[in-house]
Amino acid sequence: MLAPVTSTSHNQTPALDRADRTWLDTHIDGPVLIPVDHDYASETATFNLTLAHRPLVVVGATSTADVQNAVRFAGRRGLPVSINATGHGAVVSATGSLMINTSRMSDIKINSVAPYARIQAGVRANQLIPAAGEHGLAAISGSSPLVGSVGFTLGGGLSPVFGRSKGFAADHVRAFKIVTADGQLRHVTADREPELFWAVRGGKGNFGVVTELESGLFPASRLYGGGLYFGGEHAPAVLETWRGWVEHLPESLSTSFCLLRLPDLPFVPEPMRGRLTLHLRIAYLGSADEGAALVEPLRAAAPAFLDTVAEMPYANVASIHNDPTEPGVAVDRTALLRELSPQALDTLLSLAGPDTPPENHLMMTEVRLLGGALSRPPALPNAVGNRGDAEFCLFIASIPAPVEGDIERIRAVEERFLDRMAPWGTGGMYANFMSTEDTSAASVRMAYDAVAYERLVGIKKTYDPSNMFRINHNIRAA
Ligand SMILES: Cc1cc2nc3c(=O)[nH]c(=O)nc-3n(C[C@H](O)[C@H](O)[C@H](O)COP(=O)(O)OP(=O)(O)OC[C@H]3O[C@@H](n4cnc5c(N)ncnc54)[C@H](O)[C@@H]3O)c2cc1C
Repeated sequence: MLAPVTSTSHNQTPALDRADRTWLDTHIDGPVLIPVDHDYASETATFNLTLAHRPLVVVGATSTADVQNAVRFAGRRGLPVSINATGHGAVVSATGSLMINTSRMSDIKINSVAPYARIQAGVRANQLIPAAGEHGLAAISGSSPLVGSVGFTLGGGLSPVFGRSKGFAADHVRAFKIVTADGQLRHVTADREPELFWAVRGGKGNFGVVTELESGLFPASRLYGGGLYFGGEHAPAVLETWRGWVEHLPESLSTSFCLLRLPDLPFVPEPMRGRLTLHLRIAYLGSADEGAALVEPLRAAAPAFLDTVAEMPYANVASIHNDPTEPGVAVDRTALLRELSPQALDTLLSLAGPDTPPENHLMMTEVRLLGGALSRPPALPNAVGNRGDAEFCLFIASIPAPVEGDIERIRAVEERFLDRMAPWGTGGMYANFMSTEDTSAASVRMAYDAVAYERLVGIKKTYDPSNMFRINHNIRAA
């Protein structure tokens, strides 16, 4: 029998006693670590260092049984459960929770006939892409190869390559296994537990720990893609071209832009150092010749100082965005836009363009084109919200200076940015891009359509009435 939860003398955080530790060590095959243990820091690490997780205990799960035992233990002790696969989506402090680190669960099975991948909870895009690639197949993945494939998919899964032609990654999930708050392992499909099947695909970590997921793959081993990099002084002309250009694109072409202000530091490539850069991203699934013809107006809009748009293997897809690979401190926000009218673009350029006053500078302002299959209901309906009226996804981020008050300053700049863009906003947000700034109940609602949100609340009541899984953008049962 477990000893009752105790409190430390310093704060109200319950501590694990010797009996707890013995029980966990006996019932969990992977490591069980508390704050004083070596490796606790790496097991709990986040990518965005504005948040440092300090769970009561972290369980390095090696199997479904480890996950079940960890959840059952947390249930008996009334502890919240947090999930850490890669730390790329850490949004709420895990202090006082039992954390399940899924990174050891990295098995991948490819069925090249159906075709689909069956992946365990800890698989990252940079493991799944080559595994599928061996069969000439592509998995829907995000811009960063380091992101966890399950977390990415459960939050929607917006691909910079397949989104407009295939929809969200969540739209292609056929089945998953999940350990719910009662410790049960459930095999979930459209026919078995259909409400849970609908909710988890979009409702993310609110309903349990997905231990395994089966998702469709697509025959693709190459594409025509890359980046066009322009000096920031060309941003108004190039983006005006891009704005008109995106109105007539085939769904097989995905694109986005990023206005980047990188610091004047030696690790930044020279042409981008200390100045504004416009990075246009292109991913076209048709032939290189057709792709070159499609991209021609952008190339003609201004001289690019770097042009990497070319035939490429799908395995190199991460080079299109070139996302950061090292953890750092960043404050970010997001919004969905229903249009990018000339006025909207002018406003955006006044906030992030060459003439933006230095006190309002942000490190990055990204706009991804949505539409196509992202706007249509999927064949197997799911909870992914805000389809239909969102044509663009805006994401802004900045790195605060290490001086007191700079995080608050950036928050205020970003808040003003979103206020100024609000006339073109849908009022919604894309779940996977929501951050530590978007954790209020009102913000979480913005990720879902109103009816879908009420349905999610009902499903939460059924599967997690005590809100064990609340270390996330939380859908509350009450
Ligand atoms: C650099 C960067 C680039 C990105 N690019 C894209 C992109 O192109 N498209 C896009 O859609 N998103 C993108 N994202 C967002 C990313 O998909 C989400 O943050 C996602 O939640 C990360 O999942 P993770 O498992 O890697 O992170 P973690 O921090 O380990 O997990 C985040 C959350 O995901 C949920 N979760 C993870 N695993 C499980 C599981 N097994 N069962 C249940 N819930 C689970 C939990 O709620 C958990 O708290 C990007 C993020 C970063 C930092």
